[in-house]
Amino acid sequence: MRTPIIAGNWKMFKTAAEANAFFAEVKGKAEVEGVESVICGPFTTLPALTEAAKGTAIAIGAQNVHFADNGAYTGEISGGMLQELGVSYVIIGHSERRAYFAETDEIVNQKVHAAFRHELKPIVCVGEQLEEREAGKTKDICTTQTTAAFAGLSAEQAAQVVIAYEPIWAIGTGKSSTAADAEDVIAAIREVVAGLYDQATADAVRIQYGGSVKPANIAEYMSQPNIDGALVGGASLEPASYIALIEGA
Ligand code: 13P
Repeated sequence: MRTPIIAGNWKMFKTAAEANAFFAEVKGKAEVEGVESVICGPFTTLPALTEAAKGTAIAIGAQNVHFADNGAYTGEISGGMLQELGVSYVIIGHSERRAYFAETDEIVNQKVHAAFRHELKPIVCVGEQLEEREAGKTKDICTTQTTAAFAGLSAEQAAQVVIAYEPIWAIGTGKSSTAADAEDVIAAIREVVAGLYDQATADAVRIQYGGSVKPANIAEYMSQPNIDGALVGGASLEPASYIALIEGA
């Protein structure tokens, strides 16, 4: 009932020329019936990507958006600017932004609202650090982050949010969470959404796993009942690998 969604998060990799070359290779291949395919490139690649994606089933996402619609925010990019390009998704609250750019739960929530003002679907990242996992706080952290991110959203908006559960210790480390552990946390996150709204909304929300996902382990995650896809960093950068992820899903 939920369409699986695989999103590549390129982080700060690829120029516009490299993005074009990538797209030429995945076009027609990273498009599989029943799986949503999303590429989230750096801002400077988005004009090229949105142009290249026209007429394909691949959606384009940004990796950040500012919380205000305009104003004296030097260096920032607004939701309206992304909407103008034809961007349809935006990653919000990635752990790298929380860690290096001081994004708080409150800012994440403001950015989720900014996304909805401009018809961008948010991919909201939540997840615990290694010390928090070891202290048994994983579900508490995810509950707090999820609850804050959804503050003030209608049930209709909430149902469109994609949540990416990314345990921070699994990002870029090759140490992925087991599928069973990821399923356990993701099922708990779905219960949080049910508590905030209702079961129908929770059943509609798509929740991805992220952290060292690659073609070799994607199927294992996808076989879990609550895991609706993946947010993939490193393994989304090579065309063959990205295509294999979409096919594996
Ligand atoms: P890796 O897939 O490189 O571990 O990165 C995960 C991630 O942070 C995606 O947002």
